[in-house]
Amino acid sequence: MPHKKIENLKASVRNIPDFPIPGIQFKDVTTLFQSPQNLKDLTEVLTDLYKEKGITKVVGIESRGFIMGPILALNMNAGFIPIRKPGKLPADTIEESYEKEYGIDTIQIHKDSLNPEDVVLIHDDLLATGGTMLAAYKLIKRMGVKKIYVNFIIELETLEGRKLFPEDVEVEAIIKYD
Ligand code: AMP
Repeated sequence: MPHKKIENLKASVRNIPDFPIPGIQFKDVTTLFQSPQNLKDLTEVLTDLYKEKGITKVVGIESRGFIMGPILALNMNAGFIPIRKPGKLPADTIEESYEKEYGIDTIQIHKDSLNPEDVVLIHDDLLATGGTMLAAYKLIKRMGVKKIYVNFIIELETLEGRKLFPEDVEVEAIIKYD
C-alpha cells in the first residue's frame, strides 16, 4: 500500500476527545472527506485492495458507511446496498440484533437485495469493538452469498474487533490506531 498516501489520510482524521461520552477518542472522518485529493487517494487505495476480487455488491452500514460505500461501488462496477437501523427500509427486510455497551441494537437489510452469486464487500468507516460489523456479516451470511469481504477506513487495533470474525474472512482497514 502507498505508505505516504495513507500517512496523509491519517493526518487528516480529526480526533475529538470525550465525544460522545467521556473516555472516547472519536475519530472524525469528515475532515478527511473535505479534501478532493484525499477522496481520490482513499478511493484509489480501497479500490486497489479489491480489484482482483470480483466484487458485485458493496454493502454500506448506516450512516458513515454511506459516504465511501457508493463511491467504491461505482469504482468497482458493483451495486450499492444499504444496511439501516430498524424502520427505515420500506420493503421486506431481515434483521440481526447485537449487544452494545448499553442495550441491544438492530440492523436491517432488504431481503431481495443480494443473491447467491454475489461477492459482497461490507464497508463501514471504523472498526471499534466490531459488534456492528459482525452483525452485518452474520446478516449477509444468512442470505447465502458466494463470498464476503469486510472493509473499514479506520481500525482501533487495541479493541481487537477483528478477532470476532472467522479466520477465513479477510478484514481490511487502511488507517490504524493503537
Ligand atoms: P463497533 O460496533 O464498536 O465496532 O462500533 C463501530 C461503529 O461505531 C462504527 O460505525 C463507527 O462509526 C462508530 N464508532 C465507534 N467508536 C468510534 C470512535 N472512537 N470514533 C468514531 N466512530 C466510532
